[in-house]
Amino acid sequence: METPALSIAIVMPVFNEEAVLAETFARLSVLFDQNTDYQWRAILVDDGSKDSSRDLLDKQCATDPRFEAITLTRNFGFQSALAAGIDAAANVDAVITMDADLQDPPEVVPELVNAWREGADVVLAVRRTRQETGLRRLGMDVFHAIFSRLTDQRLTNNNAGTFGLMGREAAEAFRGLPERNRFFPGLRAWVGYRVAEVSYDRDSRAAGEPKQSLSRLVSYALDGLFSFSRLPLRAVSYVGVFVALVGFGLGAFYTLRRLVGIEVAQTGFTTLVTLVLFLGGIQLIGIGVLGEYLGRIYDEVKKRPLYLVKKRDRKE
Ligand code: UDP
Ligand code: MG
Repeated sequence: METPALSIAIVMPVFNEEAVLAETFARLSVLFDQNTDYQWRAILVDDGSKDSSRDLLDKQCATDPRFEAITLTRNFGFQSALAAGIDAAANVDAVITMDADLQDPPEVVPELVNAWREGADVVLAVRRTRQETGLRRLGMDVFHAIFSRLTDQRLTNNNAGTFGLMGREAAEAFRGLPERNRFFPGLRAWVGYRVAEVSYDRDSRAAGEPKQSLSRLVSYALDGLFSFSRLPLRAVSYVGVFVALVGFGLGAFYTLRRLVGIEVAQTGFTTLVTLVLFLGGIQLIGIGVLGEYLGRIYDEVKKRPLYLVKKRDRKE
């Protein structure tokens, strides 16, 4: 008996991507047509698009059974849309996650698949080049510099983003992660398994504007830092100990001077104001760091679902 072909799902979050979808569908179709050894599924997650993306998705799903769409009830954000797609891709042999804007070229997919067939459970697409410039680029570089220092460096490859493949077991492990604050590359690394890397040149967005605002990217970066490191909390403790020691030393110094009869000068207003503001600032930063963790704990304990599905076209 012939063994059934291995199934591979491409999971793509889509948010207001009408400008690029036609080309995305075309490039995916070519990929599927050229690699007939596998049973392909494209799972497109409409993350509350306001433009005609939904219609384009419907049309594509109606004409090509390899495409299926999931519509979320509103815009939940890239991470949640990704989770929705990965959840929907249960029972496939491999899940490939990529952006809909063709920054992750579908032509690299066969290389990911080969690495997987050669024994890797998780395959990271590692970019040789980046297309972002200016503030986005600077932010990304700063983030990676901080992230790799604060967290276990082995956890992640700085140049691996969303694009990659997870085999059946790794994807199942990923689905089991309960947290709401999701930093995808970190979580994917966290599940472990045998990891392989494939390098590629990241393209520019094929059409349209970036859909992730800079502020979203910043909060994504903070999620990454705070959900993978406790070092900020510890740093606050260290600063506290340091300031307390300095305070103690100064206190002892001035008391001794008083005892041996050296009078304190009556001025010192500037020094006092500076010290009060400095210490106040340090305390506020400390509270802020606590707040970052507290807010995330609050999100977790509410246990709201990551996303809600309005409609799903099932092909199985
Ligand atoms: N995206 C999404 N929900 C959002 C924002 C973006 O599903 O709220 C999708 C978007 O359609 C694209 C992917 O996430 O497929 C990456 O978005 P974008 O290209 O804007 O981000 P960047 O390339 O700047 O990381
Ligand atoms: Mg993009």
